[in-house]
Amino acid sequence: MMNVEKIYKDSNALLEGHFKLSSGNHSKFYLQSAKVLEDPKTAKLLAEALAKQIKESGIKVDAVCSPALGGIISGFALATALDVRFIFAERVETVMTIRRGFEVAKGENYVICEDIITTGGSALEAAKQVEAQGGNVVAYAALANRGFCSREGSSLESTTSCKLPLNKPLFALDDFTFEMYSPEDCPLCKDGSEAYKPGSRGN
Ligand code: ZN
Repeated sequence: MMNVEKIYKDSNALLEGHFKLSSGNHSKFYLQSAKVLEDPKTAKLLAEALAKQIKESGIKVDAVCSPALGGIISGFALATALDVRFIFAERVETVMTIRRGFEVAKGENYVICEDIITTGGSALEAAKQVEAQGGNVVAYAALANRGFCSREGSSLESTTSCKLPLNKPLFALDDFTFEMYSPEDCPLCKDGSEAYKPGSRGN
């Protein structure tokens, strides 16, 4: 059994502070997956463990698609471990789009891969693009699950925040169930500190 939390801690990828998440909510913790994935050996190890789960499920996969930018490294590593093609979707203005000459063949089976699934919003948008071009989305995958969506092998129930369809499996290596706060109810804000978006101060 892989200790994903330890891997994130050892890579200094589990940040503690007062963070503003892309959802607008605040949190005391932030997962900086890029720091884990900067070591290709670790990326390979994680992706192989994730690929093993998917292979054991018996689901047939033809390709992996990730939403840019966050999902690209984990998606590429997963595709390598599954020995299938890899494509990515990216936002043009605000609309998730598949560009760069990537083609989705009709009837091809796709896994949508993120580094971390929080609510799954970007993953779902990428999935819709794959489906719009005739592909089948057969599963979702992530290195870790923030605890809002149910996943294979975990007893967590999906919350109303989860945007992923309940009829498709989500594969992930671990759950990180940190609390999130709306800015109005954030105890860290009440203590007087200011939330910041990781990446905006050189980290
Ligand atoms: Zn706050």
